[in-house]
Amino acid sequence: MKEYSVIIIGSGPAGLGAAFHLAGAGVRNILLIEKLSISSGGLRNDCKQNYTFPVGFPVKHWTEEESTPLLDEVASILKPEIQKKQNIDKYMKRSERLGVKLLDIRQAHVGTDKSVPLINSLTDRLRSMGVEIRFSATAAEIKHEEHIVTTDKDGDLRYKNLIIAPGRSGYSWLQGVMKANGISFIDNIVDIGIRVEAREENYRIVNDYYDPKFIFPEDVRTFCTNSGSAHIVKEKYENYYSVNGHSFSTDRKPNGLVNFALLKTIRLTDPVVSGAQFAEILGQMAMRLSGGEPMMQRIGDFRLGRRSKDSSFNDDLYDFEPTLKSATPGDISLAMPGKILRHIWCSLKLLDTIVPGIMHPSTIMYYPEIKAYSNQPEFINHYFEVREHLFMCGDGAGTSRGITAAWASGIRSALGVLKRLEK
Ligand SMILES: Cc1cc2nc3c(=O)[nH]c(=O)nc-3n(C[C@H](O)[C@H](O)[C@H](O)COP(=O)(O)OP(=O)(O)OC[C@H]3O[C@@H](n4cnc5c(N)ncnc54)[C@H](O)[C@@H]3O)c2cc1C
Repeated sequence: MKEYSVIIIGSGPAGLGAAFHLAGAGVRNILLIEKLSISSGGLRNDCKQNYTFPVGFPVKHWTEEESTPLLDEVASILKPEIQKKQNIDKYMKRSERLGVKLLDIRQAHVGTDKSVPLINSLTDRLRSMGVEIRFSATAAEIKHEEHIVTTDKDGDLRYKNLIIAPGRSGYSWLQGVMKANGISFIDNIVDIGIRVEAREENYRIVNDYYDPKFIFPEDVRTFCTNSGSAHIVKEKYENYYSVNGHSFSTDRKPNGLVNFALLKTIRLTDPVVSGAQFAEILGQMAMRLSGGEPMMQRIGDFRLGRRSKDSSFNDDLYDFEPTLKSATPGDISLAMPGKILRHIWCSLKLLDTIVPGIMHPSTIMYYPEIKAYSNQPEFINHYFEVREHLFMCGDGAGTSRGITAAWASGIRSALGVLKRLEK
């Protein structure tokens, strides 16, 4: 049976971060396994990179002092072009008056059309550093007692150290691995909300600040703002679709639209403690009410307390076409729990005071946007190690929620592997 010094499962930012750090430190005999033909997640999409703590870093696991040097290491590989910002003080003052916080973040944006060349250049570089990469290979079973990973492509492989970084799409699989290997975890946090799509002239802040991060009361925040050539997409989860947004690079013609998520973080307590289960229930409810597709509603209709219809998307008053055309016109208030809806609606009103225009009747709200990524394994140390020689990092393990933080979490696991290899 083939044996590796380190096997890394998942070639998202967390897996890549670990691989670059280990190969850079001179470790040989590293295998990176990826179930798709190319890395997925945010790197494959819009690839907005945030270089300021705490964006993307769950504060339960990170401090600013820990994240900053690792972000410098991420930047040394990804070489971001930091976006310019202006008029930030003005927006910050307006926000403060309302009890809202606007974070001032160093950001870079690649664009969906340029992400594949970026990923290819990263994997080529890793190969040139001696890392073996297996695409279209899925890790199925892990028997940590025997240090064996079973894959569909190469059968059983033995490892000295294993880093598992399967991202959000590997969330359920990771739960299975933890159960099979007796690793305790909780999964009680989930973000639920909407994606807002508006004319750029009704959300002009994007001309000053590419992806403004507002933190509202009641655990609501803006997330992943897209402008320029911006589109809404749907992502398939087991039994429902969640919406998401992306935008192309500045090479593509702008479509005059903006989209961003408005999410509320829910922390469940006994007896309902699975964020993934709660997401599933809400996702399915939305699908049932809207014929198996995400739902969309114009703000103009919502304010009048009525559902949107096909005509809401044709009338001359409602003056732009939705970019997610398959979404079903409906009534979000029938599908979203009251507490979440109230807090999201209040946040929208606050946002409209800070950036007047976003509540124009034509603005569209899409539901659901769900981020269920908070598997929280019981770590035995600071390196995201769950058993000796077994590490879990990235979004799937709840140690990050963004590209740069996932990369940093991979570096932290790599540091743990280096300690093990020293012994
Ligand atoms: C559409 C979209 C757009 C996004 N845009 C941004 C953005 O602009 N900026 C930002 O900061 N964040 C963005 N995000 C979030 C970002 O993608 C994640 O925070 C980040 O990618 C997490 O990194 P990761 O390495 O933990 O997981 P991922 O990037 O999801 O990578 C995990 C990898 O593991 C593979 N895998 C899973 N299970 C197995 C298995 N059993 N065997 C082998 N391989 C496996 C998956 O195929 C995947 O390639 C976006 C997410 C999505 C879905």
